[in-house]
Amino acid sequence: MFARMGLTRASSTPMRCLHLNSAGEQCPMPAMEGAEFCEAHLPTPLEEAIVLPWAYRLTRRLGAAVLLGIIVLQLYVMMKMMLDW
Ligand SMILES: [Zn+2]
Repeated sequence: MFARMGLTRASSTPMRCLHLNSAGEQCPMPAMEGAEFCEAHLPTPLEEAIVLPWAYRLTRRLGAAVLLGIIVLQLYVMMKMMLDW
């Protein structure tokens, strides 16, 4: 019976908490059922709803700005080369 319990437990909760500490080490606690984090690191729905779109938008905006910067820089270098030639 104990062996069976251990087996079901091992197969149903193989995931570990995905939280990383400041040293980059993964949390040793097993993740909650149906979640990617343990109880201590589980993000609350309220926090997630506020933080996630903000970070997502910022990342997208930064990515767009970097891409635009590269294109403008390339155009600038190209123009300079063409004019100096
Ligand atoms: Zn954790």
